[in-house]
Amino acid sequence: MKNLAKIFFACIATTTLVGASGIFYTNKEKTRDKKTSTKKTERKIFSTNEVISVKILSQSKIKSLLFAPEKGLYQIIANGKNIASIDAQNALKISVVNDSLELKLFEKPLGRYPFVKLLSFDEEKVFKLKLLNPDRKGRFFSDNLSLSSENGFLRLINESKLDNYIAGVSEAEAGSRSSLEFYKVQSILARTYALGHINKHQAEGFNLCDQTHCQVFFGRSAESDILRAVAATKGKVVVDENMTLIDAAFHSNSGGQTVNSEDVWGKAMPYLRSVKDSFSLKMPNARWQRKMAAQDWLSYLKIKHNYPVEDSLARKTALHFLQETRKANLEFYGVRVPLKSVRNDLQLKSTFFSIETQGDSVVFLGKGFGHGIGMCQEGAMRMTKMGYNYKDVLHFYYKNVHLIDIKELNFFRE
Ligand SMILES: [Zn+2]
Repeated sequence: MKNLAKIFFACIATTTLVGASGIFYTNKEKTRDKKTSTKKTERKIFSTNEVISVKILSQSKIKSLLFAPEKGLYQIIANGKNIASIDAQNALKISVVNDSLELKLFEKPLGRYPFVKLLSFDEEKVFKLKLLNPDRKGRFFSDNLSLSSENGFLRLINESKLDNYIAGVSEAEAGSRSSLEFYKVQSILARTYALGHINKHQAEGFNLCDQTHCQVFFGRSAESDILRAVAATKGKVVVDENMTLIDAAFHSNSGGQTVNSEDVWGKAMPYLRSVKDSFSLKMPNARWQRKMAAQDWLSYLKIKHNYPVEDSLARKTALHFLQETRKANLEFYGVRVPLKSVRNDLQLKSTFFSIETQGDSVVFLGKGFGHGIGMCQEGAMRMTKMGYNYKDVLHFYYKNVHLIDIKELNFFRE
């Protein structure tokens, strides 16, 4: 499993969009930084009933909250002892006081403890967290919760069944109004990512956080199509030819062609190859435009990239740049301007643009939205609407990969 060293941190840029088709979804793109590998993952034996610990509400500085069971009887375990149990009729108030957790059942004090666990042995267990300080609306989670204090605030770890977590992530990433088949794709990718990065926060004592740094997770999904999709793909993950969990990058819209990973990440991945993608063409984010002063564009090229704008031919190349198929650079006799950095600097929706001059201005005529690597979400949605199944979608956007059960992965690990 040498290749596990190749799995890097990923983060996701999220924009919530409502498409012309009325589909509500999120635009995501995963990019990587090369700081950390997850080499230790190779010793992990996965099971389909994996429990995963996720740091939740990790961006909120919480002083106090209410824990209210929705389904299931919960035991309050404090200092390793069962001190009380609560059901849907009750709510437990938990506040940080001098680095301890103060518990109150209604207004009845239950004491102060350094560490509290809220645990249910029922088949179905759901609880609501209502933040009191700061005041936020309630969110629902499944399974169990561990609490402690961290720098004077509450630290919350949701110990969730893997598939309950996958359903929550799928909803955060694909919205709540997509198709069953598309949710199957998204849940397989979420599971592949989660297991591939299971040790990402090992040093901090949990598996994954709930932010773009790992995968966005707002809590439990109650969307029936999402739950059906997660159940229908139970245990399924995507691996490459070396049986390594893939880096399942995706983006909103490819503009008609996806990108080779090396053109953005500088590293060629055998399964992240450029494909011609006509499925994305008539979707909401297929095209965009941006106008700017021609002089600003030329100054940018000169200052940032030392592009020879004083040369008339070079200037002409920059003012009439054409991309019919994807290019990685704007080039003029050995001077290379990486389109990736143009996109970042000018905050463009994609690197897939041509340039046209209109008077004193240049117009960027762009295609697609996102980095363009891996699966195009809008293209995948279109494919599933046309009758392709989730396997077709995965094999179309990821090359030479295998869809396997995590139990088979164990077989190869042993
Ligand atoms: Zn994280």
